[in-house]
Amino acid sequence: MKNIFAFIMILFILSSCDKKKLIEVEVPLPEIDSENRIGNPSDVVADNGFFKLEKLNFSYAALSPQISAATIETHYSKHYLAYTNNLNRILKETSAENNPIEKLLKTLDTDNEALRNNAGGYYNHSLYFKCLSSKEKRLPKDTLAIVIENTFGSFSGFESKFKQETSKVFGSGWTWLIVNKNNELQICSTANQDNPLMKNSVISGTPILGIDLWEHAYYLDYKNKRADYVNSFFDKINWEAVEILYENAIQK
Ligand code: MN
Repeated sequence: MKNIFAFIMILFILSSCDKKKLIEVEVPLPEIDSENRIGNPSDVVADNGFFKLEKLNFSYAALSPQISAATIETHYSKHYLAYTNNLNRILKETSAENNPIEKLLKTLDTDNEALRNNAGGYYNHSLYFKCLSSKEKRLPKDTLAIVIENTFGSFSGFESKFKQETSKVFGSGWTWLIVNKNNELQICSTANQDNPLMKNSVISGTPILGIDLWEHAYYLDYKNKRADYVNSFFDKINWEAVEILYENAIQK
């Protein structure tokens, strides 16, 4: 009797083990390291609205080691996306007319903080990502190269003046290379998400290159060493895009 009982118990345990095994197989595997997974920029799409994200012409990791994949991914898929979605939402709520971003910035009421910050944030980041390149470093060519030389003495004269300007920005802001009202190149800075297209800007003009000096643009990679980020930025400038922006700006 005892033996029969033991035999039944063994059968019961074995069948439990079998059931357990089956259940384990069916449980989906945990997403390993899901928080550190680097995504794809083309998967990031703004909510339905007038303004769309500037497409990234490179993968998140393509600017490494100057700017890491983690920095570019967060900057593009979180910060830039948020400005874009906020801008679209604000415009929908106010039933504002859909205008190109440049016109919107030139005419917006700068006392409207939410619109000012998000329209500026949208434009500034669209320009920033357009002016970055994963390609091999090169310097400006043709007309822009000549104008830079005439304005700043040389390319290195421009580079050091631009870097010096970034060092004067206290807190969050941007440094720009713009085409001013006299069709001349000029370097200037703005605070927060302002830019030289806004009517309150001390120096006004059309930006053709901009560097984001907010901590989110560099802190993961450079901590407090913002000047090192500025140096690295110069390795990654898309001068081809800047040359096109220059040609468009002087025609206005
Ligand atoms: Mn930013």
